Amino acid sequence: MFDALVVGGGPAGSACAYWLADAGWDVALVEKKVFPREKTCGDGLTPRSVRQLADMGLEGALAGAHRYDGLRACAYGQVLELPWPEHPSFPSYGYVITRHDLDALVNERAVKAGATVWQGTEALSPLVDDDVRPLAGGGLPACVGAVVEEKSSKRRREVRARVVVVADGANSRFGRSLGTARDRRQPLGMALRGYYRSPGHDGAFIESHLDIRDGEGKVVPGYGWIFPLGDGRVNVGVGLLSTERRWKGINTSVLMDHFLAWAPKEWELSPEAALGAPTGGKLPMGLSVGPRVGPTVVVVGDAAGTVNPFNGEGIAYGYETGRLAAAAIGEALSGGGADALVDYERRLEDTYGLYYRVARAFVRMISHPELMRVCVGTGMHSESIMSWVLRIMANLLRPDEVGPAEAAMRAFEALARAFPDS
Ligand SMILES: Cc1cc2nc3c(=O)[nH]c(=O)nc-3n(C[C@H](O)[C@H](O)[C@H](O)COP(=O)(O)OP(=O)(O)OC[C@H]3O[C@@H](n4cnc5c(N)ncnc54)[C@H](O)[C@@H]3O)c2cc1C
Repeated sequence: MFDALVVGGGPAGSACAYWLADAGWDVALVEKKVFPREKTCGDGLTPRSVRQLADMGLEGALAGAHRYDGLRACAYGQVLELPWPEHPSFPSYGYVITRHDLDALVNERAVKAGATVWQGTEALSPLVDDDVRPLAGGGLPACVGAVVEEKSSKRRREVRARVVVVADGANSRFGRSLGTARDRRQPLGMALRGYYRSPGHDGAFIESHLDIRDGEGKVVPGYGWIFPLGDGRVNVGVGLLSTERRWKGINTSVLMDHFLAWAPKEWELSPEAALGAPTGGKLPMGLSVGPRVGPTVVVVGDAAGTVNPFNGEGIAYGYETGRLAAAAIGEALSGGGADALVDYERRLEDTYGLYYRVARAFVRMISHPELMRVCVGTGMHSESIMSWVLRIMANLLRPDEVGPAEAAMRAFEALARAFPDS
């Protein structure tokens, strides 16, 4: 019997296990793969992720990773280099590091803090206690553990815990078997990435192309990226926002081929430079998956749809929601019970509610190509406009002063309050 059982050892699960173990709770984590393992990702860490890694005592461990200074935004023939802004709570740099290396580091940190980690062990099905009263107003059932299987031996056993954390990523089979579901009216991202050898591998900026096109040359809602890894490779990918039916038929492999042909020649992204076939995945965003809490269970990271709809960033939100969940679990285990666990939902709403509502409105807007062309095309003529757009999209607004970015966001928030999105 553990205090907490965490299902999944990605950013959300390992961060949650770290913060629980650091607070002295007896926590077990099951991860179906064995670290280090591949995870399809752009490998880009923004200042928000770096802050969380530093708080877990891991910034020193990133010394071998590629540190970069900001974003090079490219669209409609314009190129702008936008450094990460100064901020009282976040550093003004990021890193690019493969998930192969990064996720192993964070999981190892949870082990060092005292978490019990079983790698190569899959949570097959939840153990549900029907005698525990459900939450008033709905929510997930009372999950009190899981049937887990050690993959190498096929040995199965039950692991029981006072609280279960669902951190099993975008597909979230475990979460769905408990009753979570994605709100299909909300946007979903789909992305594909591959590694390439490139002479630009050690550049000081990550690069985003905001005007990617489909096979007929039409601009689609999404972006193409080239992120330098500093080790001879770049991570190249395309992300598409599936907001309306008309974007659902677009094949990301075709988009990727077009992007590779379209990307600036100095990157030398020829088929010969490819290091393996590209792989893809889904990005559930804007808190679009729920319910996220039950009397003895919380859902974190991609399993809860926490990716930022503005930019497709999910690693920071995995770390952050894992940490918010650990705080609520600590209070629940200290006597607060189910009421304290429900507080996780309030913490999510306080931290992201309004921001994500604005982001969802933004996604609906950019699914209209003409509107997107006008907005991006106009913005790209002004470095100062794009600098504040970057601050909004990377969720790096300052709490201590009101510049143009903060003022614009407050206006968008007022609009979002006045016009609910669902
Ligand atoms: C192509 C692509 C590019 C992206 N690029 C970026 C980027 O550059 N920057 C960024 O911030 N975000 C990016 N994202 C988003 C980011 O990858 C995710 O938001 C992030 O990985 C979410 O972390 P997580 O811990 O919730 O889930 P995951 O990272 O998916 O981790 C879930 C873990 O749970 C394990 N698991 C699943 N089921 C079980 C089970 N039943 N039992 C035991 N273990 C289980 C899995 O093996 C996995 O290790 C990208 C996503 C895609 C698809």
